[in-house]
Amino acid sequence: MTKKTIYVTQPFLPPLEEFIPYLEKIWESKTLTNGGPFHQQLESALCDHLGIKHISLFTNGTIALITALQALRITGEVITTPYSFVATSHALLWNGIRPVFVDIDPNTLNLDPAKIEAAITPQTTAIMPVHCYGHPCDVEAIQEIADRYNLKVIYDAAHAFGGQDTGGSILRHGDLSVLSFHATKVFTTFEGGAIVCRDAKTKEHIDHLKNFGFADETTVVMPGINGKMNEFNAALGLLQLKYIDKAIAKRREIDAAYREQLKGVNGIRCLNDTGETTANYAYFPILVEPDYPISRDDLYQKLKNHSIHPRRYFYPLISEFPMYRGLPSAQPNNLPEATAASKKILCLPIYPSLGRQQIEAITQLIAAY
Ligand SMILES: *Cc1c(COP(=O)(O)O)cnc(C)c1O
Repeated sequence: MTKKTIYVTQPFLPPLEEFIPYLEKIWESKTLTNGGPFHQQLESALCDHLGIKHISLFTNGTIALITALQALRITGEVITTPYSFVATSHALLWNGIRPVFVDIDPNTLNLDPAKIEAAITPQTTAIMPVHCYGHPCDVEAIQEIADRYNLKVIYDAAHAFGGQDTGGSILRHGDLSVLSFHATKVFTTFEGGAIVCRDAKTKEHIDHLKNFGFADETTVVMPGINGKMNEFNAALGLLQLKYIDKAIAKRREIDAAYREQLKGVNGIRCLNDTGETTANYAYFPILVEPDYPISRDDLYQKLKNHSIHPRRYFYPLISEFPMYRGLPSAQPNNLPEATAASKKILCLPIYPSLGRQQIEAITQLIAAY
């Protein structure tokens, strides 16, 4: 086998020649941004594809998260998970909000609703959970608490493109859901993101916020940011969307192959299969348990020595970074499950072009010690 490096993910790129007509249209119209035709087309195509009513496209997921908090005028304290990409909490700090970390459920690795109530104070205004690896949170339990305490719910749905539950898109839950279309995500516009909201009025508010607060040529109604997706990225999204079902189907096959091949391996636990209706197979997380003969980090190093680059998503925890670790809620004894998971987690390579032989090479290295 040739020693080509296998990364944790690799973007799925449609044939280049299919992108040329989009570029020609941009060159012809000379409309590069400011809610041009591709921006509008992608918004409506995503609503159709995802089964949602309102979406507002952004330059990236982080600006979308920051803007979502602005849109709901969130202040004070927000309950969130330490087991996520650092942008989740950074979006709070950029709004002058104090993150309050609550532990995760050891089975789903999502925010544990049973632990939320104890963290609520008079300053709490919202809950910001993450659908980690695209697996849906316990949305009903979270909403029940939010309703009881009059809190907003903003889902960081950066992993959750296309996720469904029995009632439809998981993006319909909460007040707002935020997507990322970064190069490493299942659906990518190279850089990009979006806010999914429930009604036209909220979308209009978000659209003003992402365009400096302009309501028309001469009217500025709020202190907005520049968060607009441009025509180039929107065109990439339209083309990518044509291939997304095929790409996710390929991921599903890889997920099944990993599960099958790792079934008998002592000390390796695959995260629960959430079932065909909910999953997008964005990640393939395994937990390296204490009865596995070598440590998680030794396994990580061993795979790297064979040019296979898994990732420890999420290690370290957000609560361990210097700008967070002084918070009372960031103390490891407040977060035992998240701390344990971050020491056991390894996300294996998964992307549409990952071949059968490559998967076997990876699982054989994990099985042979
Ligand atoms: C990728 C990601 C983000 C940030 O999205 P960008 O588009 O890269 O800004 C936020 N939260 C989570 C959980 C992510 O995985």
